[in-house]
Amino acid sequence: MTRLTAEIRDSLRQIVGEKGWIDKPADMAPYLTEWRGLLIGDAPIVLRPDTTEQVGAIVGVCAKNGLRIVPQGGNTGLVAGAVPSASGNQIVVNLGRLNRIRELDPLDYTVIVEAGCLLANLQAAAKAADRLFPLSLGAEGSCQIGGNLATNAGGVMTLRYGNMRDLVLGLEVVLPDGRIWNGLRRLRKNNTGYDLKQLFIAAEGTLGIITAAALKLFPLPQQTAIALMAVPSPEASVALLAALRPRTGDTITAFELVPRLALELASQYVPGVADPFDRSHPWYVLIELGAGGERGDIRGLAEEALAEAIENGLVLDAVVALNVTQGQQFWRMRESLAEVQKEAGGSIRHDISVPVSRVPRFLEDATAAVLKAMPAARPMPFGHVGDGNIHFNILKPIDMEPKIFQAHTVEINEIVHDILLALGGSISAEHGIGAVRRAELERTADPLELDLMRRVKAALDPDGIMNPGKLLT
Ligand SMILES: Cc1cc2nc3c(=O)[nH]c(=O)nc-3n(C[C@H](O)[C@H](O)[C@H](O)COP(=O)(O)OP(=O)(O)OC[C@H]3O[C@@H](n4cnc5c(N)ncnc54)[C@H](O)[C@@H]3O)c2cc1C
Repeated sequence: MTRLTAEIRDSLRQIVGEKGWIDKPADMAPYLTEWRGLLIGDAPIVLRPDTTEQVGAIVGVCAKNGLRIVPQGGNTGLVAGAVPSASGNQIVVNLGRLNRIRELDPLDYTVIVEAGCLLANLQAAAKAADRLFPLSLGAEGSCQIGGNLATNAGGVMTLRYGNMRDLVLGLEVVLPDGRIWNGLRRLRKNNTGYDLKQLFIAAEGTLGIITAAALKLFPLPQQTAIALMAVPSPEASVALLAALRPRTGDTITAFELVPRLALELASQYVPGVADPFDRSHPWYVLIELGAGGERGDIRGLAEEALAEAIENGLVLDAVVALNVTQGQQFWRMRESLAEVQKEAGGSIRHDISVPVSRVPRFLEDATAAVLKAMPAARPMPFGHVGDGNIHFNILKPIDMEPKIFQAHTVEINEIVHDILLALGGSISAEHGIGAVRRAELERTADPLELDLMRRVKAALDPDGIMNPGKLLT
């Protein structure tokens, strides 16, 4: 590995100019720290290029000199993939200034957007053109399109629209040797050999730096209905989803499972969140329906379908949001759950998926196994049950020292992951592998799949300069 000599520093500084150059420790700190403080890295410089050509030139200089690069978006990732190691020999390339919407075509239902564009800004631009960009997640005000692509983000509308991979038509990528691949096609159909863009989606910055993407847009729903339902069990939630999909003309956009403990914590810590029911229930489901104007009264449809579900016992009680504000309150409750865990003393987290029908079995087995290992633990599983994706998070026992609790992380991870693997599941449904899940990937992955992944890495990045220490060992 080459040292960052004065000569190389000068070349890089010339490429990005003063606006894109950060080297003072206090200014670099936010770019070097994982947002929950799980990992504090070090770097000699942080670069913030504002054109694809600048990214290409930076990577070219680094490749020539064997310098390592950590691509970074909004740094909201949950597996510590966007921060450098503590070695001090990795350069951070933050994409935040490369944030233009290059072209939005309502007729094609497509948009070409640069990697540093905030997800919320893209959603707003699509809405202004009477279109929907459907990726939606709690961090949408801070995460960037490049980060969403590099992690193949999921979020709350995957059930209807798919995850980030499903929304991509083409990519522009700076390869590890500095060349720029312009794959920004806007084609719905293109069978001309290997689908190269797929390599860079979910690669977590280990194969190149994504600088722009051509993405799909959808009709903007003219009507939505949001309801919070109390359900007797996870089994009931799965049966409910299966029954409601045809009953509502497949207009369900989100279907999120929330346990009692999560609703209690959100009501305790988040202003404006309250339990809307007059008695407590073990589980809740937040549902959203969305449809075009021609579909009739979607709120009426939701009310009818929920009344039937109450009659047949799948739902115990339900509140259909009366207005936008109440709907937003329900969503605030759901979206706060990633953060309220901090307030509740911290948690050991899992981002797992199993086939939807196996969610109840997974929850039962994993909860029992965790409580056997740590009887005072407080499981708080929540999330995208409609996708079979549960954030199976274990809150710290109230009286346990945080350090002692965290020391059990590997043990608890292994217990949970072994159960889901037996059910045909995945140890990372939407957050990726990063630095946090690398050892678990190594322990649990099919050796053939790992071998193929390493070959892809070696083919594209033979010198290992892109995001070393992440995803693969
Ligand atoms: C409150 C909250 C809620 C969340 N909810 C969800 C959720 O519902 N679903 C979900 O999937 N995630 C969720 N996340 C996780 C996170 O927001 C997503 O992983 C998001 O996609 C990360 O985007 P980012 O711009 O912050 O990327 P970063 O954190 O900056 O980077 C993530 C990874 O991508 C790489 N990377 C970033 N930009 C590029 C680029 N341009 N080219 C190549 N590699 C790049 C980085 O090196 C890193 O490995 C949540 C996070 C928070 C804090």
